[in-house]
Amino acid sequence: MSQDMLPQAIKLPQADGNGMLPPIEISPPAVDRLYQRLQSEAESAGYHLNPDAEFTKALVHSLLINEKRYGYPTCPCRLAEGEREDDLDIICPCDYRDPDLEEFGMCFCCLYVDEATAKGNKETHSIPERRTPNKERADSQKPNQIPLPQQLSYPVWRCKVCGYLCAREEPPGICPICKVSKERFERFL
Ligand code: SF4
Repeated sequence: MSQDMLPQAIKLPQADGNGMLPPIEISPPAVDRLYQRLQSEAESAGYHLNPDAEFTKALVHSLLINEKRYGYPTCPCRLAEGEREDDLDIICPCDYRDPDLEEFGMCFCCLYVDEATAKGNKETHSIPERRTPNKERADSQKPNQIPLPQQLSYPVWRCKVCGYLCAREEPPGICPICKVSKERFERFL
């Protein structure tokens, strides 16, 4: 996508003659605000942020940088393409958070952890990358053209991040559980 096609709000920064991007300034209050919001959203939905506040705020800082850089907050631990459609699965919270919490007790960046880790009863550690390479991902993300089963009045939509299911004409604008946007839903039935 060319710079001219982007809305002003998400103009990508221009690299200088050495290919270096200008620094992006994020204020400490902005980090604190997002940290508090994520903390409260996580706890109200049964998730937990990493209890190491300094480490977690550093990740929140990176999320804010990515949001300014791309127009959406991509995962601090993964390389974004800069195209929303290609990066949808790694907009935080990513599609891989819940399977990683289930299997390893933490997400790839360790921003979200399980209850035992949040309570200080388990150590954090690095975990393998669950995200598949570009080509496989593109194939698996093709739109789901499931015909509506006869016994259903409405299609069933599934949030790809938290698994929330709902039966309605269109997916909700915001997932009531994990707060991701409508585009993170897929047809389930
Ligand atoms: S949930 Fe964790 S791994 Fe996923 S995008 Fe957010 S910080 Fe990265």
